[in-house]
Amino acid sequence: MKLFKKLVLTAILASVQLFIGQNTDTADAHCPWNDLPHCASHADPSPIIPGTAKVAEEAWGEAGRGLYISAAKFMERDNTLPFSLLDNRQKTLLRPEFGSLVDRVRIKYGADMLDRWGSGNFQISQGSDGQTFCNVIYIKNAYRKGDDYQVILLGHELQHSRQCEELGGMSNFGYHYFKQFKKAGQSYENNLLERQANEVESRVKNFVLAASSPSTAYFNYGGAVRWYRRSAGGYCGITSPTHLKVLQTTDPAPSLGDRSPSEFGRDFGVCPPYAFYFNYAGAVRHFSSNRRGYCAFTSPDHLRRFQQSNPAISLGNQTLRTDFGRDTGVCP
Ligand SMILES: [Zn+2]
Repeated sequence: MKLFKKLVLTAILASVQLFIGQNTDTADAHCPWNDLPHCASHADPSPIIPGTAKVAEEAWGEAGRGLYISAAKFMERDNTLPFSLLDNRQKTLLRPEFGSLVDRVRIKYGADMLDRWGSGNFQISQGSDGQTFCNVIYIKNAYRKGDDYQVILLGHELQHSRQCEELGGMSNFGYHYFKQFKKAGQSYENNLLERQANEVESRVKNFVLAASSPSTAYFNYGGAVRWYRRSAGGYCGITSPTHLKVLQTTDPAPSLGDRSPSEFGRDFGVCPPYAFYFNYAGAVRHFSSNRRGYCAFTSPDHLRRFQQSNPAISLGNQTLRTDFGRDTGVCP
């Protein structure tokens, strides 16, 4: 059985003619990339021999190691433009998803892209706006400062960088990318690694679009968190971590990181007074920033009466923190 598998694998590998193509208009005229399984089943370089699906996937995977590295070298030779790092805004928007990976990737904008690359008549990846070879990302268009759609595209490509790191580098990524392509019925978009990248891309898209035109948002400036409200035409300053927590409970808006206040309109100074209930030592307390402290209730009836004229959220069980202020005794 082992010998049989080895023979089949060798035969399949021998029949897999890999290519890297560029600017070839005619090659796939009769077989567009998104219709390969349908239109080119006759040209499968590794037709399924019953019982050998896994071996065929293995063959594609092994072939993919070399092809991926060749493609990376080809791109490097073809693109002598200097590398860029992500700019600060791109990093701020992508860091929540990717962490420190945003500091490690290098970008070439305005790159000459591979129009097609694949195996035999099979194009495994279409000419696209972005191509990633581990931590090197090629983007077809020129760099555009503040462009949300470029950030969203980078989100897709960074997911491939992350996959490459997680899989253990270029050779392994090539292996898994081609193997998953075969496993998905030779489909570009059903490839597990592409499905993952598309999922991350849509997550990044929601986040980026919400952040670029939020109705409310938090941002950092001058060592403090600010709360922006479009309807108010400006922003106010948050005075303590508890204040931020209360606001985030009632308004779970995106945090935009370090930003210049000039983008956000008027400075309204300190945010309006705030209040909340919390439980401490088995009893309900009420905090008010006007009172700069918290008070307690003498009975459930007292609490009920007070709540009627002082509606506020409850933060549940809390331990006392310095920004809860002082104990002001019994509530009025
Ligand atoms: Zn992709």
